[in-house]
Amino acid sequence: MLKLTRAQFERIVAQGRQGKPLEICGLLAAAEAGEAGEAGEAGEALLVGEVYPVESDDKSALTYTINAGGYIRAERDARARGLKIVGIYHTHPATVAYPSVTDVARAHWGDTNDLLFPDFSYLIVSLRDPQHPEPHSFKIRGRRIPQDVHEEPVVIE
Ligand SMILES: [Zn+2]
Repeated sequence: MLKLTRAQFERIVAQGRQGKPLEICGLLAAAEAGEAGEAGEAGEALLVGEVYPVESDDKSALTYTINAGGYIRAERDARARGLKIVGIYHTHPATVAYPSVTDVARAHWGDTNDLLFPDFSYLIVSLRDPQHPEPHSFKIRGRRIPQDVHEEPVVIE
């Protein structure tokens, strides 16, 4: 389960609306998990501590690419505050909030079956209905759609 505050969610939605018709993206950070295990596992809620908007290199309505420099800056800031990057968010300006073939492919290192960020939450916010942004979050475990795409609940409060 992925938990965001209303303010964090509104920030993503505002960035998304501003970026329309292009996809926008960014990073989600949460408190470091204890030694016991990764946060977010076994139904444990993953509390987002900070949202980092990051420029998309793609400037596309259909795909996004997290800017590498933006990633490094966000990670540095998060670490300084006792947080770590736990997820990536992006918008689907005109389509359903479900990972595209490209989204799933790019969760991997090139053409390999190795995941870039195996434990990340991939939050997608659909803006197809401008008045009702739809957040859905997924763990991507492999290349097969839908078998390797696992939805997790999103709570905004
Ligand atoms: Zn997408």
